[in-house]
Amino acid sequence: MERLVLKASDVFIFIYLKKIMIILAAVIATLVVLFISIGYYLSAPVYQGPVSDHFTGKEFISPGGVKAKGLGEVLQWMVKREQGPWTEIKDNKGTTLPTERIDSGLHITFINHTTFLIQVDGINILTDPVWSERTSPFTWAGPKRMRQPGVKMEDLPPIDFIVLSHNHYDHLDITTVQELVKKHQPKIITPLGVKAFLHEEEIKGVQDMDWWDEKKLTNNISIQAVPAQHFSGRGMFDRDKTLWCGYIFKRKTGNLYFAGDTGYNETTFKEIGEKCAPIQVSILPIGAYKPTWFMQNIHTSPEDAVKIFVETKTEWAVASHFGTFPLADDGQTEPIEELKEALNKYKINPEKFLPLREGSKLELK
Ligand SMILES: [Zn+2]
Repeated sequence: MERLVLKASDVFIFIYLKKIMIILAAVIATLVVLFISIGYYLSAPVYQGPVSDHFTGKEFISPGGVKAKGLGEVLQWMVKREQGPWTEIKDNKGTTLPTERIDSGLHITFINHTTFLIQVDGINILTDPVWSERTSPFTWAGPKRMRQPGVKMEDLPPIDFIVLSHNHYDHLDITTVQELVKKHQPKIITPLGVKAFLHEEEIKGVQDMDWWDEKKLTNNISIQAVPAQHFSGRGMFDRDKTLWCGYIFKRKTGNLYFAGDTGYNETTFKEIGEKCAPIQVSILPIGAYKPTWFMQNIHTSPEDAVKIFVETKTEWAVASHFGTFPLADDGQTEPIEELKEALNKYKINPEKFLPLREGSKLELK
């Protein structure tokens, strides 16, 4: 029988390999701990409250139980990603300064992404304000701004209200909100649970709303939170732990619908149209919809937005959620091109559903 005899050099290699394995395991363990710690640190406070038809006691659910895709599908998308073209546009030409206040009537100025300055019957409202360079928890990584805001922050008129549709980074940009609070002290309206995150950031004057809650903003205008098909979360442990919503601004001469961030389904928008009629103007998302298999649960395509326009019986619509941050695989101009095609398909006058240029506005009486 042959005996296994280890040479001195074999023993040396064995000890050396063992050391490398131990160091490698320690590095991997440290990275995992670091990753989980960052995920925990970024997570927003979890909402606690009574169970409802869209809150299980632990998490919120979209109409029909539609959910955003999970980590496995995110990885699948990342591996096969085919992104359309984007180019950085350094300046927005031909923008005009907003008026200080509009005593009566309605001006909607497109600033970027889902940020609009709504000037209505004497008050100024900002939706989902984002002026940061990236929509991310980090200043060095995450979707980068490809176009400057249509209105500089220093050129804003006094801001009375900020409405936030949910807590994703491209809608709740905490740096922007902090700057606006310092300068304008606006009241802030949020969906259930988001107030706690803003309080943690020392921001006061925040009111949470559940779907269908209604509050008075002034004697002439009230706001109602309405359902949306989306999800929420800022870190690893807060997925769907706070609510997402759209808002209806109710006024005597016709209501305004800000849809926030939503996917399409056949019931939600018909219900909003019936309960909140007449809707004079809607702000509807048209971007971040490709690839369809991944995005359709959470984001509308231009054609979906046109269906919402029809189902809510809206008179005018303005497009949002396109052209600023490359969040999905649709290229920079694809949403506008596909919106034109969808309006043509549904035989709708293209002047009734406008993809406004950043810094330009829709004026209605
Ligand atoms: Zn979102």
